[in-house]
Amino acid sequence: MLPGITPAISDMIGCVFNRWTVTGYGGRDSRGKPLVFVRCSCGNSPEKPIDASNVKGGRSKSCGCLHRELVVVRNTTHGLTGDPTLQRCRNAWRRCYDEKLEYYPHYGGNPTDPVRLAPEWENDLVAMREYLVSTIGKCPGVDHFIDRIGYTDSEGKWRGGNYEPGNLRWATESQSVQNRGMLSTNTSGVKGVRIGRDGYVYGKVTSRGREWHKNFGLYTAETWDRAVEEVRSRREKMHAEYANHG
Ligand SMILES: [Zn+2]
Repeated sequence: MLPGITPAISDMIGCVFNRWTVTGYGGRDSRGKPLVFVRCSCGNSPEKPIDASNVKGGRSKSCGCLHRELVVVRNTTHGLTGDPTLQRCRNAWRRCYDEKLEYYPHYGGNPTDPVRLAPEWENDLVAMREYLVSTIGKCPGVDHFIDRIGYTDSEGKWRGGNYEPGNLRWATESQSVQNRGMLSTNTSGVKGVRIGRDGYVYGKVTSRGREWHKNFGLYTAETWDRAVEEVRSRREKMHAEYANHG
């Protein structure tokens, strides 16, 4: 038995994370981080154990075969190069899997609720495009992107869910925010609070030509609630000043 195994690591053994199956505990690296032995669904097994938290958090998804397949997918467009609908599919894919994308942490990189593409689309954006065209139609305009309809969870918070059949629609940024507001109880109709397309929550209050605005950070239930609260009190204050001095 190697030293330093924790219950959390031992629970991972035998479990599947993306394409990895954890086959055993691999000790700790020089910085004390736990390692696990893994096997990829394609049959490859790296000789050395890898960082357990990267496996669990999805930062490492496969032996490299997934990435190779996706590169092929992205370069195979069947004569649809420049097609706006396919472009939007690719953007959705990037939000889920492109770690270099600035707002990836809000989507695929969200540690508690990572957003994914439906498995049948992960390697086949042309199939995703075909689905869209046959259900909600082609991309209607330059301002439109693929929005997740989402649902309200047991605590009344809006959850976007995955990019999968039945959960998609075309939206502009303002429609998308309205959707979130409507689906999220307590927060509907909160003027001046919005989620940008970059995934950040913004608050803004304008009064008598003066403007106050703030970036509250990446969208989570918490940042959203904080923004709502601060915008409300800020508005009351600015309006009170207006009433007193106006
Ligand atoms: Zn593999």
